[in-house]
Amino acid sequence: KEVLLAVENVRAYYELEKICVKAVDGVSFEIFEDEVVGVVGESGCGKTTLSNVVFMNIVKPLKFVDGRVVLKANGKYEEISSMNREEVRKRFWGKEITIIPQSAMNALMPTIKMESYVKHLAQSHEIDVEELLDKAKKRFEEVGLKPMWLKRYPFELSGGMRQRAVIAIATILNPSLLIADEPTSALDVVNQKVFLKVLMQMKKQGIVKSIMFITHDIATVRQIADRMIIMYAGKIVEFSKMEDILKKPLHPYAQVLFNSVLTPEPEVKKRGITVIPGAPPNLINPPSGCRFHPRCPKVMEICKADEPPLREVEPGRKVACWLYMEEVV
Ligand code: SF4
Repeated sequence: KEVLLAVENVRAYYELEKICVKAVDGVSFEIFEDEVVGVVGESGCGKTTLSNVVFMNIVKPLKFVDGRVVLKANGKYEEISSMNREEVRKRFWGKEITIIPQSAMNALMPTIKMESYVKHLAQSHEIDVEELLDKAKKRFEEVGLKPMWLKRYPFELSGGMRQRAVIAIATILNPSLLIADEPTSALDVVNQKVFLKVLMQMKKQGIVKSIMFITHDIATVRQIADRMIIMYAGKIVEFSKMEDILKKPLHPYAQVLFNSVLTPEPEVKKRGITVIPGAPPNLINPPSGCRFHPRCPKVMEICKADEPPLREVEPGRKVACWLYMEEVV
């Protein structure tokens, strides 16, 4: 499989007057063509910042400090992190990469008709408005909405319909990569299922090639992801195939995280439910060494001083934990 997106050692911090929040701190991963990568972690672990970094939606006080984001567009690899936001917006947003931001369905302006968003998209990409409206009608039908609802105001649609309208509009130009940030968290169970089905149909039909699905909900992501990234305190602690991580999470945080949710996985059920002790660390002044060390049941001396690198410890499995490093065991 070809790489669609590569994120290399990226650091993105919120620089406020007297403090600096290290929300994404040395993160590397890739998304291949034709795959769904889930990004999971507790609130405040940097997931949403990561989605903005991948989308290159860098707005003060967020600062792209270091690293590279490379996106395959029209068969060519483009280092989008070396471009300014305006250039990325013009050349890539909507066409190559799109985002359903957190609470998207509530972010729609109640006084703006759905079709106005399509018209705005056409204008910003210098595309014929009528042509794009025709495409939008078709896309609305594909996601189970009536094309004439494009003339409606958001408040005239239910929450589930609004979320489907958002994904329909976000994908009109068939972008390769769709970033979905907690897209189902505000929906009821029935609408969650409908939304996930729409999402997977879009991938199957090739409307989008790959999906980065950000959530705190493991039960949702396990239904659709091929691989899963687990984030803790601004860092990736485990990146593995879905089935491997469900069967046997390697990182101690992944282990407690999986055991702290109710899931139908027999392997997880067998291990029983546990609660993660302590609170997530403060990202202004994160713990030394391994950031999970104050909460880790397997902490060792080295963990307090030295930061474990994210390394491949089994084929296709990357973990950042000294338990799996030759230097220690
Ligand atoms: Fe726990 Fe040490 Fe592994 Fe961190 S590096 S997760 S503290 S064992």
